[in-house]
Amino acid sequence: MSGKVFLVGAGPGDPGLLTLRGRELLEAADVVLHDRLGTANVLAFCSPEALLVNAGKAPGDVAMTQDQINAALIEHATAGRMVVRLKGGDPFVFGRGSEEAEALLAAAIPYEVVPGITSAIAAPAYAGVPVTHRGMATAFTVVTGHEDPAKPETQTDWRSLAKGGGTIVVLMGMGRLARITAELQAGGRPATEPVAVVQWGTTTRQRSLHGTLATISDLAEDLGIGSPAVVVVGPVAAKGEKLAWRDGPLQGKSVVVTRARAQASDLSAELRILGAEVIELPTIRIAPLPPGEVRAAIGEIDGYSMLVLTSVNGVDGLFAALDERGEDARAIPASTTIVAIGPATAARLRERGVRADIVPERFVAEGILEALEATELDGARVLVARARGSRPELVDGLRARGADVNEVHLYEAVAEPMRAMELERALSADYLTFTASSTVRHLMEQLPDESRARLESKVISIGPITSQTARDFGLEVAREAGEHTIPGLVAELLADSATG
Ligand code: SAH
Repeated sequence: MSGKVFLVGAGPGDPGLLTLRGRELLEAADVVLHDRLGTANVLAFCSPEALLVNAGKAPGDVAMTQDQINAALIEHATAGRMVVRLKGGDPFVFGRGSEEAEALLAAAIPYEVVPGITSAIAAPAYAGVPVTHRGMATAFTVVTGHEDPAKPETQTDWRSLAKGGGTIVVLMGMGRLARITAELQAGGRPATEPVAVVQWGTTTRQRSLHGTLATISDLAEDLGIGSPAVVVVGPVAAKGEKLAWRDGPLQGKSVVVTRARAQASDLSAELRILGAEVIELPTIRIAPLPPGEVRAAIGEIDGYSMLVLTSVNGVDGLFAALDERGEDARAIPASTTIVAIGPATAARLRERGVRADIVPERFVAEGILEALEATELDGARVLVARARGSRPELVDGLRARGADVNEVHLYEAVAEPMRAMELERALSADYLTFTASSTVRHLMEQLPDESRARLESKVISIGPITSQTARDFGLEVAREAGEHTIPGLVAELLADSATG
């Protein structure tokens, strides 16, 4: 059976601007043929098993020709694979997506088109430039500034375009900016007409520049602002000077998030809002142990006088186990003392309808023991429900105080295979964040010695145990979160970046 080809727009660079359909297809694709520009940030959504082919020109390499790309799409689809052809922005806006659709049609390969957010609108928007504005521009034209050099004569009549009125958005125009701005003036646009240039729009490398038809070309040259950029010509271009909204404190910083994929989103989202470029490099995966077995190991839930939970995953695991027997929070007697290691664990319990009685001040095992100093533990039945491979200190400490502890493993953190490409990007990032010892261990164990030597990123750790593991692997810890939580980690990173 023949496979299918999906012509997918990746959006302009900010991974948050990929469509839901696009993400779903990337996750499921067997083969992803991608361009170089604008696609790197969304490739992380691909399955680790997918074959990734860079069809764009890598530095020093030669790009695949359009014929080679068409042939590759047809070949993979004919072999029955699900193929995503991933393009920056929108596939049908100067993306040659329609030529590929024609080739697929001719080869009788089924295809689907998934539009993307085009840089023509999004890059200006991220610089505060609206392409239309009431009373200022009632139309906008998107035009290429880079015509096929093989064409005998230029198809774009810049002078007529100038006369047409409305906003002019030029893609691929940086190489000929001086010619283009001169032609537009010759066509009747005033020399003082505002122009904005947005380079690397929507990415963390975004830079924008404001000038006029008379000045912009020299300004861009002086400041070294070149391709890829969108040029906006018209009165709306000046709006960006007031409406610019995007310059977070972590602008221009790249940060690696090593948490499990399913849990990375909170941290990643927060970092992105602050302007960072986030590289998700999941080092671990949370593998729940069979709830039936867990439930059996727990025994009578109402037989414990204390319940200790050390993570959000632990809360989820406990409730999955209870659910095995049709139970929920009501199975836990009101008299049971509930201990949660930190605010995130306590919050997850609250979502399940259980209030934590004790949340220690220090979010490590020793903090729990300190918090329980005044509590009588002799003979107390305590359930410690947590990950396989956790440190023994907590359980040992409780037993030393006379508690009858049942330690039940709910899940384990297993290694997530890493892709060479993401690993490579991570090596040169500004920051490497670790939220647990397991993330350090699984990253370092998968990193070839040769790569370890090249690791330049500053390490930010969530707390002392994680820091110690990092040092055990020979890493230098730049900073450790004062409060051992995700917000604490982000605060530490901000503080570091503020001091340069
Ligand atoms: N299909 C793409 C356009 C491909 S042509 C889209 O819809 O966005 C490539 C040109 O797009 C570049 O030369 C540049 O002019 C523009 N471009 C693409 N990504 C950009 C970005 N992040 N910031 C600014 N311009 C970008």
